[in-house]
Amino acid sequence: MTNRTAPADKTEGKWKFGDLLRDARVRDRWEKVRKYFFLRESTYDMTNRCNIRCDGCYYYEGEKQFAPENRDPGSWRDLMRQEKERGITYVVLAGAEPSLVPELLETCFEIMPLGSIATNGFRLIPPAVGYKIHISVWGNDETSRRVRNAANLLERQLDNYDGDPRAVFVYTFTRQNVHEVGEVAERIAARNGKLTFNVFSAPVGYEGPLRHDRSSLLLTRRAMLETMERYPESVLFSSYNVAAHTHGQGLHALYGCSYPRRNASTDIGLGRSFRQYRADLTWDRSAACCVPDTDCDDCRHYAAGSAVVTARLFRHAADPDTFRSWLDYVDTYLSVWVMGYEKGENLCDRLVDPPGFSVE
Ligand code: SF4
Ligand code: SF4
Repeated sequence: MTNRTAPADKTEGKWKFGDLLRDARVRDRWEKVRKYFFLRESTYDMTNRCNIRCDGCYYYEGEKQFAPENRDPGSWRDLMRQEKERGITYVVLAGAEPSLVPELLETCFEIMPLGSIATNGFRLIPPAVGYKIHISVWGNDETSRRVRNAANLLERQLDNYDGDPRAVFVYTFTRQNVHEVGEVAERIAARNGKLTFNVFSAPVGYEGPLRHDRSSLLLTRRAMLETMERYPESVLFSSYNVAAHTHGQGLHALYGCSYPRRNASTDIGLGRSFRQYRADLTWDRSAACCVPDTDCDDCRHYAAGSAVVTARLFRHAADPDTFRSWLDYVDTYLSVWVMGYEKGENLCDRLVDPPGFSVE
């Protein structure tokens, strides 16, 4: 969100941009999404504690886990004011578990009204905190008990966020849980919840059983498409999200990651404005992305894609289907990340090639 949606490269296709906008549905969608080009994000670790412990957690990898917590609301208030002054308009509050510090979430919300919180959903975040809330789901209850050491987690998440317009359930496909998405989606849809998809992206050095291989990515692709078709009212996703996140190549190889960890330029976009603050309010440009300590070659994370893919507007202005697919992607990410934004119908239902690559 950074410039998550802002133009970031200058590759011109054979089609003129005006020609791509001749179709009224496409033009309307373009007008709808471009209003959000002002979003400019940074991310913040609110605490270094978590009330569960999952296999494959990227928070407990690398240096950030050792930062001491700053629990002083005044310091957070000052930070939010400074962030606003340097042009940040959207905050992502995360690692380890933000629901453990509700008073800090309220402080942030008072000053920065746009943002989202990444939580395991075990504890309810007070309704006064009006951010989007992304609740991580890693499989059915049996799998959650085994991988996350948490009993009846989905039931608890659903009870906490029943009817809550802030809530989006984020199903993370791992190599082991592809076949469980149907039952999980059914339970979420039965409670009128919203669901989107993530793809497990291994932390640096992780070689455990959750890490994807080519075969599990293709199974994930099929499961995503089936679930989208089965629960169109609940699932916030598009064919192009599927193509981008289940490709054999990771997001950095496909699109070129714009976060500072992978992008030396400080001239525009994420390279200029993005910071990832640790729980002690320090930040380190060389480690900064939305999912630090994730293995870049294996990065297919939904949060990364929402910045990396959307920044490549011009590359996708190549032909009508590629441009429609990109608009679907942006429309999806806005519906997942922005309160009150309603996802429209997808404009392109076929799996389009990422520019320069074959989708197969
Ligand atoms: S809930 Fe999130 S922060 Fe906590 S251990 Fe699991 S993945 Fe890590
Ligand atoms: S982990 Fe993903 S988002 Fe982070 S720098 Fe690497 S490719 Fe970019």
